[in-house]
Amino acid sequence: MNRTIAELAGPSLAHRIGRQSIVVLPTGALEHHGPHLPLGTDALLAEAVASAAIERAAAGGIDVWQLPTLTYTKSDEHSWAPGTVWLDAETLFRTVVHIGRSVELMGAGTLVFVNGHGGNVALLQVALREIRRRSGLKTFLMPSLVRADPPAGEGLDENGLGIHGGAAETSLVLHLRPELVDLSRAERWVPEHLASFQHIGFNGRPVSFGWLSDDFGTPGVIGDPTQATPAYGEVLWEASVRQAVESLREIARFEHSPTAGSGGS
Ligand SMILES: [Zn+2]
Repeated sequence: MNRTIAELAGPSLAHRIGRQSIVVLPTGALEHHGPHLPLGTDALLAEAVASAAIERAAAGGIDVWQLPTLTYTKSDEHSWAPGTVWLDAETLFRTVVHIGRSVELMGAGTLVFVNGHGGNVALLQVALREIRRRSGLKTFLMPSLVRADPPAGEGLDENGLGIHGGAAETSLVLHLRPELVDLSRAERWVPEHLASFQHIGFNGRPVSFGWLSDDFGTPGVIGDPTQATPAYGEVLWEASVRQAVESLREIARFEHSPTAGSGGS
């Protein structure tokens, strides 16, 4: 069965969607990803993982549907770089809240963001509650790309700072769309000095900080794409799709209250 909402006629969709239905909105970005990756990297990865996960989950009986990918999002950290097309936080927030309203009117009971761009996370987390309060939908946010170790024998040395255009993203695009990657232009840009701070940093450190991607004196890359390989991309792809499928299965049976009936909100 076709799960792509944009390819269905309205009455056909209305006939098939109910409160038990899960609607997935992939969110990416059109933003600078260094000289070696395409601008649409985050959107490409979010859409590919969402599509594959929806296909597998639907084959296993989950009632899940895919909206067109939201590509213009909150990429202001790369606003200095030509090719980045972004929305300010207020506009994106209002956009996703309106999409939530439309999903509610569609008749579905759940909206899931499959997000490929780190700069969207904080805003989407706030939107989860806003949409929940206004529309009554169950709302969820999951990443398109999960962390995984490279295949045995390939060490990864990015000091945990491979967050943008680094080995992971580059490997995944190498796996999915190798013709879009120019490894001859890939360079290591890891802000090594950040490792000397115990409390300040990315990824779970207690003190976070505001940054723009050119603050680090880099060409808009944070990570080491020279360590990317198609084999690592395949590992990341399988891990990402597997986690997304498992997450959709959990979302399908999730209830806020232990006494809530199935399919309610
Ligand atoms: Zn990216």
